[in-house]
Parts: sequence; structure tokens; C-alpha cells
Amino acid sequence: MRRSGRPIRRRRTTVPARRDPFERARDASAAPATLHPYTSYPMATTERDLYEVLGVERGASDAEIKRAFRKLAQQWHPDVNTDPEAQERFKEINDAYQVLSDPQRRQRYDMFGRAGADNGAGNAGNAGFEGFSGFSDIFDAFFGGAAGGGNARRGRPQGGADLRYDLRISFEEAIKGTDKEIEFHVLDRCETCSGTGAKPGTDPTTCPQCDGRGEVRSVRQTMLGQMVNVSACPRCRGEGKIVETPCETCKGDGRTERKRNLRVTIPPGIDEGHQIRLTNEGELGPRGGPPGSLYVAVHVAPHPSLKRDGTELYYEAPISIAQAALGTRITVPTVDGDEEVEIKAGTQPDTEIRLRGKGAPHLRRSSRGDLHVLVDVQVPTKLSKKQRELLEAYAKDAGETVGGGGLREKLGL
Ligand code: ZN
Repeated sequence: MRRSGRPIRRRRTTVPARRDPFERARDASAAPATLHPYTSYPMATTERDLYEVLGVERGASDAEIKRAFRKLAQQWHPDVNTDPEAQERFKEINDAYQVLSDPQRRQRYDMFGRAGADNGAGNAGNAGFEGFSGFSDIFDAFFGGAAGGGNARRGRPQGGADLRYDLRISFEEAIKGTDKEIEFHVLDRCETCSGTGAKPGTDPTTCPQCDGRGEVRSVRQTMLGQMVNVSACPRCRGEGKIVETPCETCKGDGRTERKRNLRVTIPPGIDEGHQIRLTNEGELGPRGGPPGSLYVAVHVAPHPSLKRDGTELYYEAPISIAQAALGTRITVPTVDGDEEVEIKAGTQPDTEIRLRGKGAPHLRRSSRGDLHVLVDVQVPTKLSKKQRELLEAYAKDAGETVGGGGLREKLGL
């Protein structure tokens, strides 16, 4: 290998790699997928559009590009995503971001395509990640070390799936809060092997391919120095251990399906569509992997006469014209029991009476919303003979012209 003080751009060698996630979408006659190193190289014609990779418009602002990258990187970072294709996907996302976040390279990319972005004069300095040695370092740089140190990584078992439980509660329970006993089936620790997946009397052995680290690294020399490519060990699926004699109960999975009972506390003020997350109550991961979460999705039964909008409750109170004119007392159902409400003489249609603190509680405060009584003054559509005479007498006294409006009156019916 030639070495000199000046960076030398080496030709990329095409490695028949694992299928990358986008290969299927490409032309079947396309070249085999290639591993994209951190450094950028002249494009292959099958390269995806960089804007498409990040899922942004061509005119996207720098902030939009950064936001899209962060979102995708958090989703596809190999320390977070155990999908074997995550690594290549992450590289592609990274690659696209390196070009589109650099105004000069982005401009060249827009004008000349990928080759333009990579071959700009004097561009060697920003062609890749200077000083980064692995995914975790990149991750740390962007996300404040949430993924943990790259070199300290050991084999880790896969996590278990999240579960969802649909819980139906009454209107009153949603407002006042309640405790509910729920029962569900879940993949839990196999009692025969205590979750190891190994037949009792045997132990899982350290994976010989990765020496228990759960990942394999390949080191390449590039013009920017050593580039370390890290991927999950294919032999042990990143777990670092191998079960040679599987447990007969769980067939080496370390889990069996079981019934679980749980008491769930529903806080006052919960509403339709809210979810309560119970960490570690989801499915256990295989072979002792960490459990997922249980999401309790709350469904609230409707109330026969109250409507709810957040913390506010609404009650429609039908009253007659006589009650509106003369005043009355009505009974309003509340979640604390029936309440008498005074309708003053001369109440107009669409008047709103507010019962303060009779609504639903704020989830994070002790205060409650209001109950709004909406007065619905109803004009009678049918009158008895006596009622008609009384209303006609009323109209005469008030000097109002009445009658003759309907066909029945005209025909004398
Ligand atoms: Zn077992």
C-alpha cells in the first residue's frame, strides 16, 4: 500500500454485502448492494436520491434537514435498532446528511449529482467524519451519549415487544379515577431454564465468533485514518452467547406464554384515547432480554346526557317557553350526583349556566373544569285547545298579531 503525506483517493472495492433495505426496490438488474463507508466516494448509478433518503423536499431548510436526520438516526442507529439492515440504512442516512448539511456540497449535489458533491476541489477535508471512530461516537456527538460508549459495548440480548391492552371504563371512572384489575397473556420467563434458553444442567456458551461482544468489527484504512465498521454478530444475533443444548420447554427461546394479572391505577381526568405506559410489563425479550412496555389504551363509555371536551362538561337543558319566561328549577346530572339549578325568570335561549369545578379534573393539577348547562328553550309544536286559548289571550294582551301562519288555520281545521 502506498503511503504519503497527501491523501490519496482509493477506488472503492465492491463488496458483495448483506442485502440492503432498498435493494428490493431497485431495478433487479442493478449491481449488488455495496457497503457505504463513512467517507463518500464517486456514486454508483443505483444511489438513491439524497433528499429521498432523508425524506425531505429539495428546497428543505437546513433546520428541516437536521430534524429529519435526527429523527431517522434515532430510529435506525444500530445501537438502538437491532434489525440487521439498520446498520446499512443508518450509513445511508448519515451519508445523505453529510452532503446535504454542508451548503457547498449540497449546492454541488444539486447541480451535478452525487459525483459533484464528492469531487469538489479541495474537498477532502470534509468528505467524511473526521475523528469519529464508530457509530457510537457519531451518536454521542448528536445525542449526548444516550447510546453509551461504543467501545464498552457488550453482547446484549434483544428486548421484548411492547404490548397493548384496551381497557374500557365508565364515564364516572374516567373523571374520578379508579383501580382496575387486568388479565392478559404475555411471553414471560421460562421457568424450566430461568430464561436462559439452555437445557437445565447446561449453560449458554460465549459466542466464539465475537468472543461474547455481540458485535463484529472490521477495520479499514482510509485517507482519513482508520475506519471501524461495527455490526451485530451474525452467529449470536448480537447476544454474545450461544445456546448449544436448547431447553425443551421453550425450545431455546427462554420464554413461555403465561397469564398475568395486574392492577392498573387510572388517574382522575383520563380521557378517551389516553394511554398509560407500564414499563417492563410487556413481553420479555428472548433468552433473558429486557422486557418491553405494556400500554393500557383507555376507552371511556359515553354518558347518557353529559358531553365531555377535555376538562369541560356540557349538559343541554330543555325548558319550555313558560319556564324560560317565568323561571324554574331544574335537575342537572353531574358526576358528583344530581344538582338543582335555578333558571331565572326571563332566561333567553342559548343562555349558558356554568357550574364551576363540576367538570373533569386536569390530569396534572388538582383543579377541575366546569360543567356548562346550555339552556335550550323549546317552542311547543302541539297545543291543546286550552293552551291555544291561553296563548292567544297572552298575544292579545301584548298587542301581537298571531295565527294565519299555517295551512290548517286557513282551512279552518
Ligand atoms: Zn426454557
